[in-house]
Amino acid sequence: MSIQTTNPATNKVVKSFDEMTDEQVEAAIEKSNHFFQEWKKTIYDERAKVLHKVAELMRKRKSELAKLVTLEMGKIIAQAEWEVDLSADILDYYADNGAAFLADKKLNPESGEAFIRNSPKGVLFGVMPWNFPFYQIVRFAAPNIMAGNTILLKHASIVPQCGIAIEELFKEAKAPEGLYINLMISGKRSTALVSDERIKGVSLTGSEGAGSSFAEAAGKNLKKSVLELGGSDAFIVLEDADIDTAVEMAIEGRFNNNGQSCIASKRFIAVAGIADEFLEKFAKKIASLKVGDPMDPDTQVGPLSSEDALVNILDQVNRFEKAGAKILVGGKRAFDTGAFMQPTILTNLKRGVPTFQEELFGPVASFYKVENEQEAIDLANDSPFGLGGSIFTKDIERAKRLADEIDSGMIFINQPTGTQPDLPFGGTKRSGYGRELSELGIHEFVNKKLIRVS
Ligand code: NDP
Repeated sequence: MSIQTTNPATNKVVKSFDEMTDEQVEAAIEKSNHFFQEWKKTIYDERAKVLHKVAELMRKRKSELAKLVTLEMGKIIAQAEWEVDLSADILDYYADNGAAFLADKKLNPESGEAFIRNSPKGVLFGVMPWNFPFYQIVRFAAPNIMAGNTILLKHASIVPQCGIAIEELFKEAKAPEGLYINLMISGKRSTALVSDERIKGVSLTGSEGAGSSFAEAAGKNLKKSVLELGGSDAFIVLEDADIDTAVEMAIEGRFNNNGQSCIASKRFIAVAGIADEFLEKFAKKIASLKVGDPMDPDTQVGPLSSEDALVNILDQVNRFEKAGAKILVGGKRAFDTGAFMQPTILTNLKRGVPTFQEELFGPVASFYKVENEQEAIDLANDSPFGLGGSIFTKDIERAKRLADEIDSGMIFINQPTGTQPDLPFGGTKRSGYGRELSELGIHEFVNKKLIRVS
């Protein structure tokens, strides 16, 4: 079967690639495992040198790499450039801090001496999605390479050229062969690899369905796994919030990456008193967003990642409407050509309707008006997901208190959920488990070995 780049702005196939054969996959796993025996003995400086070099090359080739991202999955070009920069920053971050994060940890037993040493585990297998084709990969690969593991990476089938480009960056950086290998295979073939004895840990970012079948295989084979799945972040606006700032942040939180981010603000919950004003301003801004060619610097919202993704979200909007929602703005395909959707806002959503618990992975905001703070919190928690969330208020102490009451992995006060190299990223409930980035991210796939001296 072939894997294809289809430009979602035109829905035209640009390039096709053959999937790797079973023999090629077997050779890749063997190479990765063989090289691990050498890599685990290297000093941190040697590992850091590779990561710094990849970061340098990424920045140098930013424009070319960003264009590839935009071509394959439709992100607007400025955001693609931002993503390449962020990815380079993550590589540098782990190169600069990894050794300190993994230093021996002295313990204080009643007698004698003891410490914990962080040893690499071996070959790790990552399955990554298309929505941030560089960031998602680097977030997994950089800490683990620094920790002394080796990487096999299966990228999403709709971004094959990004997958190849990352492997080429490692080659160009003169990374030793076997350190980072791109596996050009479909998702369906990925789960079977989890049982390979040479693979010591697995990580998947993507949908709940893919995550649960991957985790099932990991559990069956007693392997450590990290999962970063969907989200339906609440964006709570309290009565004392700065409404104009909240509206501006709501637009950024919902429509960044054409709405296709796990940490996008998806459920907008405003308290009576300010709810009507917030909704009016938010809806007006949504209606004015410029949808179009993602390569055009004036465009604010590009296409969805594929025609399938567009059809899927149009179907969701249709089902939401049938279940009682009102489409205040948008709701339709934007143009005859390409996977473009009108920026949309849904209102009249009632708690308890199962459809409304689905994640909307595209430029569709859902709006709820609630009576008070408690109702806002209850509604925020009324979701199978628990990734991020936002609270808008001028009273920071109040927001910190409410942050405790929301069942999620991250809460951002007066800003949408975001990401940066030095802050942990991850969720709870059906959003997955484990943490990426920051010091926490480098400790997921290491053996914390106790060394005891009597
Ligand atoms: P998928 O979960 O299907 O794809 C993500 C990755 O998982 C891809 O590399 C895919 O490979 C692979 N994959 C798919 N099925 C399996 C499987 N059974 N075992 C192992 N790997 C698998 O996401 P989609 O692209 O289909 O998007 C669907 C939904 O997933 C979105 O609407 C959104 O809700 C969620 N999603 C969440 C993301 C996040 O950032 N948390 C990112 C992307 C999607 P292949 O491409 O070859 O199928």
